[in-house]
Amino acid sequence: MPDQKIKSFYSTDELRAHILSGEPTLFHSSQTSTVIPFENIRGVLQTNTTLGNLSTIKGHLEFTAEKNLLVKGFVTWKEAKEFCRSHAREIMTSPTEELAGVLAGIATSCTGERSFGFKNLRSQIVELNYINHEGIEQKLLADKKLDIAVDLLDYQKDFAPYADFKNAPYPRLLVETDLMTGTEGQLGIISSAVIKTIPYEEETYLFILLPKWEENDEPHLEIFHAVQAFRNEIRACEFIDSNSLSYLPPEKNPGKNQDVVFLEVRKSDFEYVYENLLTKLTLINEENIFEMASGKCRDLRVSVPRAIFEVNSRMGVSKKGTDVQVTPAHFKELLNFYRKYTSLGVAYNLFGHFGDAHLHFNFMPTPDKNDFCNQQLEELYQAVLNWNGSPFAEHGIGLLKKKFIAPFYSDNQRKVFHALKQKFDPKGQFFPEGFMS
Ligand SMILES: Cc1cc2nc3c(=O)[nH]c(=O)nc-3n(C[C@H](O)[C@H](O)[C@H](O)COP(=O)(O)OP(=O)(O)OC[C@H]3O[C@@H](n4cnc5c(N)ncnc54)[C@H](O)[C@@H]3O)c2cc1C
Repeated sequence: MPDQKIKSFYSTDELRAHILSGEPTLFHSSQTSTVIPFENIRGVLQTNTTLGNLSTIKGHLEFTAEKNLLVKGFVTWKEAKEFCRSHAREIMTSPTEELAGVLAGIATSCTGERSFGFKNLRSQIVELNYINHEGIEQKLLADKKLDIAVDLLDYQKDFAPYADFKNAPYPRLLVETDLMTGTEGQLGIISSAVIKTIPYEEETYLFILLPKWEENDEPHLEIFHAVQAFRNEIRACEFIDSNSLSYLPPEKNPGKNQDVVFLEVRKSDFEYVYENLLTKLTLINEENIFEMASGKCRDLRVSVPRAIFEVNSRMGVSKKGTDVQVTPAHFKELLNFYRKYTSLGVAYNLFGHFGDAHLHFNFMPTPDKNDFCNQQLEELYQAVLNWNGSPFAEHGIGLLKKKFIAPFYSDNQRKVFHALKQKFDPKGQFFPEGFMS
């Protein structure tokens, strides 16, 4: 089998010239996508699809007069965050993988820990530029309704049950910037974006140790329901179970065979949250609550998925993970569903964006259990469909989730995808294997 063709771009002009050639291309940035198997792409992409590297395009950051952040070219979340901090500002999106690209984050409609307090990245975009199939840079505004001569009436009707999700099974397509948000580079290539920032305020983290969710999830559910009334004070409400924590060296593990929920709050809100939320919990003992400095918490949060990845690589095991968000009314059912998975004889772990009822359950199967785990996941996706939940609320569809997303589409979505592809990608050059095709 021939190798995939690979091209790196060092300027927007080079990128434009390539786009004008019409060559089918999967453009990429940091390749941290968990739904595109970049490490094993041969045979997954069509052989004539080129891999187009955007991470070689020099990045640029500046503040606009309104103190929004202008991001041009390849910039990571880490760089954007540090730039804002050095100007006493901060961005509101915080994906766990900080080496991912900001513009790629728009393409995947990336979310992250702070969606609990600040909603999704989509709501923080002010405007963006993209390069269209004619190599021309076009501007899209977030305060302008999408008007593209494609009938979106039924599409929008179908969207209604998903309006409060971080990401629905299909892109929002309500305002102009939605054309590039969550469409995974299938309609054009984002070259710059302006995103909102807020003044920096020092944060701290409150940790709550809990029993293992497999044995008793009542304290977890008490916290889940209680935090919903504190979205103005709590920026992130995250969960890591004892199985995930067991991958860390013992000195980094805050519990002893326990789960943990942690809350990000502004230092100025610490007392309020402690007094009005934590002391009111009836199933949690105060001795199981403690504060952690932000640097240490960040290290812990990033270490867990990385440690899991390293263990898997050593053992030749490939994780089978979920990215499901449900409504609060179905959260207990989701936990019950995941509990069924714990007695199948396959190693597992659970972590994620607890306050938003959005948890990543990961099977860690030996290669002979791969198909078995896929079957189990198909049953989960059927349940998620019945609950009107979102099967992939954060990491997108890419190539690996295409099979699982199919039952969530009807003719209404397929017709719109077809019309968009014809209009914005007439040569079929932008990620031809993506979910819109
Ligand atoms: C440990 C770990 C933790 C993660 N945590 C989170 C998280 O908290 N939240 C979250 O949302 N995701 C998370 N992810 C997933 C991943 O980081 C995101 O999907 C991220 O947005 C991908 O960025 P990237 O630069 O790696 O893009 P790539 O993986 O290189 O590309 C991803 C997609 O974006 C498209 N794309 C890239 N750049 C552009 C562009 N300029 N214009 C148009 N399309 C483009 C590509 O075509 C592709 O479809 C995590 C991944 C890992 C490994």
